[in-house]
Amino acid sequence: MSRLGLDRAGASTWRSSHPAATGSESYAAGRCHSRVAEEEDPIVQGLMQDTPLTLPHFFHRAERLFPDKEIVTATAVGRERRTYGEWAERTRRLGGVFDDLGLSEDARIGTFGWNTARHLELYFAAPCTGRVLHTLNIRLFPEQVTYIVNHAEDEVIFVDRSLVGLLWPLLDTFETVRHVVVMDDGKGDVPSPDGGRAVHASAALLGAAAPVAFDVRDENRAASMCYTSGTTGNPKGVVYSHRSTWLHTVGVMTADSLGVSEQDVILPVVPMFHANAWGLAHASVAAGAGLVMPGPDLSPPAIAELIESEKVTVAAGVPTIWMGVLPELAGRDLSALRAIPCGGSAVPRSLSEGYREATGLPILQAWGMTETSPVASIGKIKSTLADQDEDTLADLRSTQGLVSIGVDFRIVTQETTDEVPWDGESRGELQVSGPWIAATYYDDERAGESFTEDGWLRTGDVATVTAEGYIRLVDRTKDVVKSGGEWISSVELENEIMGHHKVAEAAVIGVNHPKWGERPLACVVIAPGETLTKDEVLGYLDGRIAKWWTPDDVVFIDEVPKTSVGKFSKKDLRTRFADHVLPDTE
Ligand code: ADP
Repeated sequence: MSRLGLDRAGASTWRSSHPAATGSESYAAGRCHSRVAEEEDPIVQGLMQDTPLTLPHFFHRAERLFPDKEIVTATAVGRERRTYGEWAERTRRLGGVFDDLGLSEDARIGTFGWNTARHLELYFAAPCTGRVLHTLNIRLFPEQVTYIVNHAEDEVIFVDRSLVGLLWPLLDTFETVRHVVVMDDGKGDVPSPDGGRAVHASAALLGAAAPVAFDVRDENRAASMCYTSGTTGNPKGVVYSHRSTWLHTVGVMTADSLGVSEQDVILPVVPMFHANAWGLAHASVAAGAGLVMPGPDLSPPAIAELIESEKVTVAAGVPTIWMGVLPELAGRDLSALRAIPCGGSAVPRSLSEGYREATGLPILQAWGMTETSPVASIGKIKSTLADQDEDTLADLRSTQGLVSIGVDFRIVTQETTDEVPWDGESRGELQVSGPWIAATYYDDERAGESFTEDGWLRTGDVATVTAEGYIRLVDRTKDVVKSGGEWISSVELENEIMGHHKVAEAAVIGVNHPKWGERPLACVVIAPGETLTKDEVLGYLDGRIAKWWTPDDVVFIDEVPKTSVGKFSKKDLRTRFADHVLPDTE
């Protein structure tokens, strides 16, 4: 049996090692195992067909019902247009390519690519032949890419030609990769094959391959895997099953989530190489929605142009993408656009309001993690709250919203694990459970830290929840400043400081304090050409935050260190300022 736990009959056994599988009486664990209990008593058995929830269903649906709908890919040499019918035929032949390459039945198939129709072929060909798609995050540090390829034991990597330059220097570090397949996306050089490893052109392989039938019976079989971006230590592997992907896809299609439907034209700017492009790739196929794949050019003018010319209805991206695109929208016909989902980091209220003013559509905030497939909550406004004033509504939209159907949540204090009151003020760690939430990490000793004994995922996010159930993330548990037993949100402080027009960036960390345990230190990057003093920063905060939140000191730095995926790396700042002496403690 491989480390993925796929035995010969295709049954996945990794789940049984998790505490939630032991049948504890807790809410989450009980929920997971109600079916097992019921099986003992035939009288309470439903009499419906036990159809496995596997991905070939989505594939066949698109192939049969929507063969004429289009997938458009923006490449370096123009737009490529393909119908679902053509895509399906190529996807079946890709399954034949896997056989021709001699890949094992549960091979991990690495992808190193942009959002393209070819990447979508891999999204389905790998799981629908029983193999496991492993999306490699092209933005990870090189040593992290090496780690995840070797840890997952990838047998093959499919790489876009335009990304060959990034992957090639690492080829020698891959221990299990036997084949590299280059997908021609119009630009980039392919140096001659390095020793021992076969390099193929995907077009030649596809041309020679025969189409295969797709049939997967075990819904708990692994379908794909993705590693977290690893802000501390090596990335951790999350393994999605057919069932979890199926249910997440349908969740994303519900009207109170992203509501992906056949009527839509979806532009996933969120990458297919990380966290399943928020389920949009699967949901578009399942629904038969039109797809517009942005390829490598994620520049604001290119995205704005795609939205207009392809009549995009839903365009999803992280906040930095939408910040860049906003000024590009002036004067464009955006009448087809109905939603702009955004997440991955907090969506500033000003950004959402900027979109509302420019397009009539505020940003639709979503929250999730690699571990949650990823969509777990959505900032839609309840009909019962819709008649409030614009200011209150904007505030509500700046929350991470309500949990999606299928996801349960609790916010617990770290000391007692009691749930905090739903008062919009009390803080605690956000924990989630549900059929598309990870139960553990793949072959990783660190899993114990991230899951509770009763089977909930510890998100590491600190949150509050309002009486109406709206979740607001205030910090990461590792970043919150713990001052005298109370928590100060580093994120809220940063956002306030970054509101100062002379500040380019700011990060707040906790540093040791003899009396309070920790106190906030503001690390500020001054905007180009400006000058700024500590007193100006503190004076600006006066009246904007609770007095006791005021940073004890301000230091000026050249830039805020970032993780491989561009999030603030406070770990690096904590190391740098570990010995910083605060003024009143000297
Ligand atoms: P990683 O791979 O680093 O875990 P993820 O893409 O899984 O990266 O990021 C998950 C984290 O991103 C969440 O735990 C949360 O801290 C942050 N995040 C995601 N969406 C939002 C959002 N809408 N608002 C604030 N933070 C968010």
